[in-house]
Amino acid sequence: MSETLIAARGLSTGYGEMAVVREVDLHVDAGEVVALIGANGAGKTTTLLTLAGELTPLAGHVEFLGSETTAPMHTRCRSGLGYVTEERSVIMGLSVADNLRLADVAPGVAYGLFPELERLAGRTAGLCSGGEQQMLSLARALGRQPKVLLADELSLGLAPLIVTRLLEAVRDAADERGVGVLLVEQHVRQALKIADRVYLMERGRIVLDGTADQVRGQLDEIEAAYLSGVQ
Ligand code: ATP
Repeated sequence: MSETLIAARGLSTGYGEMAVVREVDLHVDAGEVVALIGANGAGKTTTLLTLAGELTPLAGHVEFLGSETTAPMHTRCRSGLGYVTEERSVIMGLSVADNLRLADVAPGVAYGLFPELERLAGRTAGLCSGGEQQMLSLARALGRQPKVLLADELSLGLAPLIVTRLLEAVRDAADERGVGVLLVEQHVRQALKIADRVYLMERGRIVLDGTADQVRGQLDEIEAAYLSGVQ
């Protein structure tokens, strides 16, 4: 059996005293890409923030690398957690090369993931396109050789070709280095192409889980019932 890298056990979480995520059980094993899908406001980002250590559970707990943890996000990041958000975690005023240097990522590793970053090395990140910024953002996260990657809508607002590139890089990290990936993705059909398993969230609860193949087989019904407005 594969090693579980990150898990939520009976997790309820939210903002202040208000739980917006309730009694969630999920896990991500080494080498797996797991998609967390659901309509807007279902609680996907809140779940990721709690797994990352940015929000404190109201009930239940998070396990990271085999142990229950209450460590803050920066500690989890030092122990092998990578987190990429739609907000593009790059420093806009610095060059692409300096963004990599600051993240302690060797340029060659980043250029191996996304060759176009080499040509952009001297460009200020803020002047790069949205897709280029997100490649840089993902290169910064994957280049640090994380054990777990949490990716929150990393393809929001980007062209389909770029979305494919980003998702393929995520899949490769799982296949080649055994990274466990939890992916929140609005492009559900694209996400299902690279995911092994799926959790579907509705109003803060996991209402369905299965293999990507199983979910693909029911996608029309799932979209009609749960994902209106999601691509
Ligand atoms: P989306 O796809 O729109 O990002 P989501 O599934 O990621 O949605 P969350 O962002 O986790 O959903 O939000 C879950 C619920 O928590 C929503 O009802 C939202 O309004 C609420 N919420 C989000 N952020 C906060 C906050 N900072 N304070 C209070 N409530 C919040």
